[in-house]
Amino acid sequence: MAFSSIIGQKDAKERLVAALQGTPGHAYLFVGPDGIGKTLLAREFAKALLCQRPSADGACGVCSSCRYFEAGVNPDFCFLQPEDKDKVIKVERVRQSISQDLYIRPQFGQRKVYLIAGDALNEQGQNALLKSLEEPPEYAVFLLTVISPSRLLPTILSRTSSIVLRRYSPDEIEAILIRNGITGGPEMQFFARFAGGLAGLAIDLACSTWFSDLRQETLQFYRKLGRQSRTAMLTEGFQFFEANKARVPVMLDILDSLVRDQLVLASGGNSDLVTNHDQWPFLKSARPGGGVPAEVVRGHLAQAYAALLSARRGLSLNISFEPLICNLLLQLRKEFTYA
Ligand SMILES: [Zn+2]
Repeated sequence: MAFSSIIGQKDAKERLVAALQGTPGHAYLFVGPDGIGKTLLAREFAKALLCQRPSADGACGVCSSCRYFEAGVNPDFCFLQPEDKDKVIKVERVRQSISQDLYIRPQFGQRKVYLIAGDALNEQGQNALLKSLEEPPEYAVFLLTVISPSRLLPTILSRTSSIVLRRYSPDEIEAILIRNGITGGPEMQFFARFAGGLAGLAIDLACSTWFSDLRQETLQFYRKLGRQSRTAMLTEGFQFFEANKARVPVMLDILDSLVRDQLVLASGGNSDLVTNHDQWPFLKSARPGGGVPAEVVRGHLAQAYAALLSARRGLSLNISFEPLICNLLLQLRKEFTYA
C-alpha cells in the first residue's frame, strides 16, 4: 500500500510526499479526531521513510525493509501504544523502547522510525520522550499521533511539524467502507453521513449489530412521536430510554439526525443533504404538520432540536436521569403534536 491507495487526506499526503522527496524532519505530529486515520497515514509514512527504494508515491512494498514492516518485524520501526485502550504508556516503556534503543544504529537502511500514540503519554512520559527529541541522532524520526496538540507539552510541540488530517466527505467514507469489505445495503449512505467525517466510526457502526438494532428501535419511536399520549410517552417512551441507558447519547444522535433531516426537508432541501438517506420515503411522507406553513414547521423542529441538545448537555452534567428524559419526552411530544 502506498500513499495513492489511501483514500482522501490529499493535503496531508502531499506534505508527506514533499518531505520524503526533500530532507524529512525529525518529528511529525499527526493531528485529528479518533477514527480519522492518523495511525494509518503515519504508518505509511514510516514505511516510506524506511523503504530501500521509495518512489514519489511512498514505499515500494517489495524491498526487504517493506516486507519486514508489513510482517510487523522491521527492527528499525517501533510503534509505542498503550497496552490497554484508554490507558497511559508507562514511562518505563518510553525509556526502554525509545531512550535506550535510540542510539543503536538502524539495521536495514538509513533511518529508524518511532511511531507513538501521543494521547497516551502523560507528562512524565512526555518528559522522558523530550530528552530523545531534543538531540536525536541524524537517523531518527519521531511520529506522534494526537487528537489535539493541546495534550502535549509546548516543549514537545515546538520540536514537531504538524500534519492535520481533515474529516472525510460522505463519498470518501463510502469508498473506505467498500475497501473494508462493507458493501451494499441502503444503510451505507447513512453510515457515511452519520459518522460525521470519521471513517473509523463509520466502520465500527457498520460492523455492529447493536447500532443497527438501536437505530431501528429509535426510528420506530420517532415515527410514533406525533401520535403518543402523555401517559404513553412517560411509560413506554421512558422504558425505551431506560432499557438503553448506557446508549442514550447515541439515541440522541440518531434523533438529532432525524430532526435535522426534517428541517432540511422543511427548508426545501433535497435527498442529497439528508443523513438518513435510506429513510427518504419515510421522511418525505412524515413531513410534520401537513397544511401548516413551512415557517411554523421549522419553528417546531428547531424547538425539538434544542430539546435534544439540552438533554445532551444535561446528561454530560449528570443531571438525574428520570426527570431529564421525561422532560425531553414531553417536549418532543409537544413539538410533534401541534398539527
Ligand atoms: Zn520498500
